[in-house]
Amino acid sequence: MILNRDFLKDVFNAQHSGLSSAVLALVLLTNNAAVAQRDVGSEVSPYRLAQLIVEPGEMVQGEIPISPSADDSGTFIPVTVLHGSKPGPVLSLIAGIHGSEYSPILSMQQLPALLDPTQMSGTLIVVHIANMPAFTGRTVYFGPTDLKNLNRSFPGDSSGTITERIAYALTSHVIKPADYLIDIHSGDANESLRPSYSAYYAEAGGDDVVQQSKRIAVAFGLETVVQFAGSYDSIDDAIYTSAQAVTLGIPAMDVESGELGIIDDKYINPITKGVLNVMRELGMVQGQPDLPENPLFIADRARIYSEYDGIWYADPLVNTGDYVTQGTKLGVITDYLGRELETITAPVSGVLLILFGTPPVNEGDAIVVIGKLAEL
Ligand SMILES: [Zn+2]
Repeated sequence: MILNRDFLKDVFNAQHSGLSSAVLALVLLTNNAAVAQRDVGSEVSPYRLAQLIVEPGEMVQGEIPISPSADDSGTFIPVTVLHGSKPGPVLSLIAGIHGSEYSPILSMQQLPALLDPTQMSGTLIVVHIANMPAFTGRTVYFGPTDLKNLNRSFPGDSSGTITERIAYALTSHVIKPADYLIDIHSGDANESLRPSYSAYYAEAGGDDVVQQSKRIAVAFGLETVVQFAGSYDSIDDAIYTSAQAVTLGIPAMDVESGELGIIDDKYINPITKGVLNVMRELGMVQGQPDLPENPLFIADRARIYSEYDGIWYADPLVNTGDYVTQGTKLGVITDYLGRELETITAPVSGVLLILFGTPPVNEGDAIVVIGKLAEL
């Protein structure tokens, strides 16, 4: 309840946060959950996730265990399952694929308290922190022991490294049982990222999956929607979380909200609000999604990869979220003694989505991501 009250206070005090009256209504509804009539539909069976069993109209919190191997002591994935009393879709949410991306993790901490499974249709699976080794180890991009990127490790391997076993468990318990998937990220601890955006594969998984993925990406309600290019010949090629889902035929989307390890409601609240929007769109909770009038569609992204190990100096005149034209100076890479190696300029015109925000740069790092505007 304290969580609810704090959230409510934020709604009242922070008009600029963009939280809608619809979210407020849902918060109030949830605060009345204790007196709500139980409406357990006889047609809804208990939901099973790993060893967890969730009765209709109930919430269960627990973990998906990842067994030890010869090389490590295993780990676990903390999850909450809210199983509605009425039939409906299974929506899976994954936070913490990258363990130092905190706004998704903090949004997932708040979300269960805003929902009442006795009033819900369908099932919500919340993965709070997918990558516990990276979270506890405070690493960027990679797991601290096997140095693998979980978002390049799908569909995973039940006898692989710890990152590969986490991917396998997520594929088995969270992605495959879902009717829809939202994989939630932010800029990593070294990345500036603005504006917050949702994204979906515009070419992968077949027409129906594309249309359903677009439907939830738009319903999420952010001002910016990115269309990922590319498709995948097999699930083994679909190494990204949401790519794995769409290649399996499951509509999926990504979210990016937050940056640089910063904890701020301006990054956390849009995630919470967006998930509730998608749940409304899917009929899991009552109401209509609260949508911006004219979201900006971005047709894929151009990246600049560093050719050097060294030190990155972002240009002080540019900020993420700016529209930059081709040739705009974005920063300089020097060696460790400060001698210039390369001046980085924008290869295309578009919205500067991601820019490295801290000095260390390694050969192969994607130091700049520019969103190319979709042709109307
Ligand atoms: Zn990420």
